[in-house]
Amino acid sequence: MEQLLQQVEAYRKEIAEFSVDKDAAETFRIKYLGTKGLVKNLMAEMKNVPNEKKREFGQILNEFKTFAENKYEEIKQMTVNGRQSTVDNTIDLTLPGDALPLGSRHPISIVKNKIVSIFQRLGFTVAEGSEIEDDWHNFTALNLPEDHPARDMQDTFYISQTPDWMLRTHTSNVQVREMEKGKLPIRIICPGRVYRNETISARAHCFFHQVEGLYIAENVSFADLKQTLYFFVQEMFGQDVKIRFRPSYFPFTEPSAEMDISCLICGGEGCNICKHTGWVEILGCGMVHPNVLENCKIDSNKYSGFAFGMGIERIAMLKYQIKDLRLFSENDLRFLKQFTGVV
Ligand SMILES: [Zn+2]
Repeated sequence: MEQLLQQVEAYRKEIAEFSVDKDAAETFRIKYLGTKGLVKNLMAEMKNVPNEKKREFGQILNEFKTFAENKYEEIKQMTVNGRQSTVDNTIDLTLPGDALPLGSRHPISIVKNKIVSIFQRLGFTVAEGSEIEDDWHNFTALNLPEDHPARDMQDTFYISQTPDWMLRTHTSNVQVREMEKGKLPIRIICPGRVYRNETISARAHCFFHQVEGLYIAENVSFADLKQTLYFFVQEMFGQDVKIRFRPSYFPFTEPSAEMDISCLICGGEGCNICKHTGWVEILGCGMVHPNVLENCKIDSNKYSGFAFGMGIERIAMLKYQIKDLRLFSENDLRFLKQFTGVV
């Protein structure tokens, strides 16, 4: 009896430490629970146990049998289709997970957001419009009637079935649509993608991005324009940057000007970027032409306004010293990754 009990204890230990490999369930079943298995063998020993101990030993054997059967079920769950399952205690759930690769904002978005946020602080709100536009909103209303020579500078892509429709050449179409609503004063900033029929090179592309601004109210003067743009330049490029205005011509503004900033690379000394002039052009601007106001049913005797427009690519190229415009649309990760962390 004593020997039998020791035997049971030894088997119990063996079962508890049973190593689980791919054939474990079957091996275990044959060894312990099969017709010639150890449990059966122990049961057979009952006849040798003295009568007064039979009850006690029977109970121990039953417990042992249940223990072995439970272990068998456990092994079966751990081995699925004969292969060892990953459900075991060797997985360390406290290990840190795999880090997800973080992308970066596109430099055009970074610069656009920055420009928009500067003008928002001056009370401008964002207005957006469609990239497919009709002739009136893209050209004619902006004092660019058909056959106007300035149209040649803005050749674009037309839709052959409806020749009146085109891909817009500037975001000024949004300005026209806002003016036509007739709600004054207007103080808007219009970011968006625009198109030109140009040969793609390091300095030109068939599409690019613009931000235009428009302010129309009573008594708006050129001094307001100048101060607004000066504030923008200082916020965008730093307090030390100087500005200058050069007289220019746009059909939709009168007077018109192009604005330069002192070269960021050489600080005005002269270098390749500024073509040794110390200045780089960043935007065009002017007072809204009375014809444009009248085209949009705004009384040009009562209201005046200024408008300006800049290419986002140009600002980004100056800010980050990017030399080739094509990099912005090539999706080259080696380029885009350099803006990780810039917000
Ligand atoms: Zn320079």
